[in-house]
Amino acid sequence: MNVYDIGETKGIKWIRCNACGRISYNVNDIEHKYCGHCHVFHEAGTGTRSVVVPLEAKDYIDYLMNGGQAEGAIPNGTRVEKVKSDPDDGHQDGDTATVRGSISTFENRYLYAVEFDDVPGVKIVIISSRIGVLNEQEG
Ligand SMILES: [Zn+2]
Repeated sequence: MNVYDIGETKGIKWIRCNACGRISYNVNDIEHKYCGHCHVFHEAGTGTRSVVVPLEAKDYIDYLMNGGQAEGAIPNGTRVEKVKSDPDDGHQDGDTATVRGSISTFENRYLYAVEFDDVPGVKIVIISSRIGVLNEQEG
């Protein structure tokens, strides 16, 4: 049996530790072959296998809020601005932010986790139609 498995379900990458059975969608766990429950880094190359695991809503949110990037989405780190705001939205047109994560939803839309400049460190979930890409670099 593999020490760990890495796979992808509906575009969401995951890693499963076969010692404890825990599945993580955290991109850092996947990159470093890390199990946050066992607190171990698995040895590289011990196994890659495609297994279908059922995803629940919380798994998508976990992915979105931990640096996940959907294929075809605006890449993480891209500078964006708020557009098409409603009058009672917390942020209004022109407020600037940085993309921190994305997942794809129905009808080729994406949900993004963005960090607005006026509330650093806080990730806010926003639909793709409410942000526009800025022509500037993060910095
Ligand atoms: Zn484990």
